[in-house]
Amino acid sequence: MTAFESIPLCVPEIRGNEWAFLKECLDTNFVSSVGPFVDRFEQMTAEYVGTRYAVATANGTAALHIALLVAGVKEDEEVLVSTLTFIAPVNAIRYVGAWPVFIDAEPDYWQMDSEKVRDFLENGCYWREGALYNKRSRRRVTAIIPVHILGHPVDLQPVLEMANTFGLKVIEDATEGLGATYKGKNLGSLGDIGCFSFNGNKMITTGGGGMIVTNHEALACKAKYLTTQAKDHPIEYIHGMVGYNYRLTNLQAAVGCAQMEQLAVYVETKRRIAARYGKALQGIAGITPMKEAIWASSSFWLYTVLVDEKKFGLDARGLLNKLDIKKIQSRPLWQPIHQSPAHAESYVGQLPIAEQLYHQGLSLPCSVGLSECDLDRVITVIKE
Ligand SMILES: *Cc1c(COP(=O)(O)O)cnc(C)c1O
Repeated sequence: MTAFESIPLCVPEIRGNEWAFLKECLDTNFVSSVGPFVDRFEQMTAEYVGTRYAVATANGTAALHIALLVAGVKEDEEVLVSTLTFIAPVNAIRYVGAWPVFIDAEPDYWQMDSEKVRDFLENGCYWREGALYNKRSRRRVTAIIPVHILGHPVDLQPVLEMANTFGLKVIEDATEGLGATYKGKNLGSLGDIGCFSFNGNKMITTGGGGMIVTNHEALACKAKYLTTQAKDHPIEYIHGMVGYNYRLTNLQAAVGCAQMEQLAVYVETKRRIAARYGKALQGIAGITPMKEAIWASSSFWLYTVLVDEKKFGLDARGLLNKLDIKKIQSRPLWQPIHQSPAHAESYVGQLPIAEQLYHQGLSLPCSVGLSECDLDRVITVIKE
């Protein structure tokens, strides 16, 4: 019997200029949060995403926190957010003292359901003196965070139209959709502000890091100001506000520049892996491969399937265990945040689609460096 190496879920791919750029930081002594790579990484990201400005941050959660602040979201206001998401955007809403309004997923692409958004805004809210309020909580509703999960876009056009009608700021959490497009436009560039994370398992990594992108100069300036302790004077230590130390270091940005050079290839590779999985898994009873809408180009960040216990014979956790025995790492989706003990204080309605996706979803190995041979191994185990 062959002793198989284990196959991880999603690990970084380091094969470009990372070493050379890091060495440059060390050789020039620019290791901290000021340095040429920070500026270059911001420029490269803005250029790639197609926004006028980009502001680097310490991580993706910090980017979301600052985005909410510069969008003007205040204490005791409410922000619509996908319930099926990694927890970070919902935590960020609480950091500014605001409250989440959880929106269910749609069953086709598993993203924030724009019809549920419409239902809440049209039937669950009222206007008073030009401001929008939630009928039930009587809190003001001021923003929406569509989270593009697993690399696929939210159907944004209706969301953007409603945001316009109802006066909501739109903050895209585009972390998982870096490299994905909606009707030809890059995710992160469609709302008022876009946020990204460059944690270890994202589309690209800086070890840890994040970015805010926007076309609005005032928002970008405010973001830069707040991430750098709100320092008002280049020499004197005079601060106009309570700011944050949320900067990215030059070392991290150096890795980011090298990763950004390879992003297009990474996206291509992820899409190729997804196509292989899709073809191989399509015919298996009880397995639903993830789909791509005609209006979308997904980054396929985490390749995910739904497992129907009745038809497949095992549920998602059962398949996870079978794969684990064969040293193949897989992962369930996130507990929908409306069910999270961390957000038990927030109001919860009926959100059945997200709950079902949570029960049935399983993400499969999809590192950029995944070999054909390893991909075949995963497919074979699922088929068996
Ligand atoms: C990873 C992730 C974040 C958080 O980013 P950090 O850099 O870990 O703080 C935020 N939103 C989404 C959708 C993520 O996947």
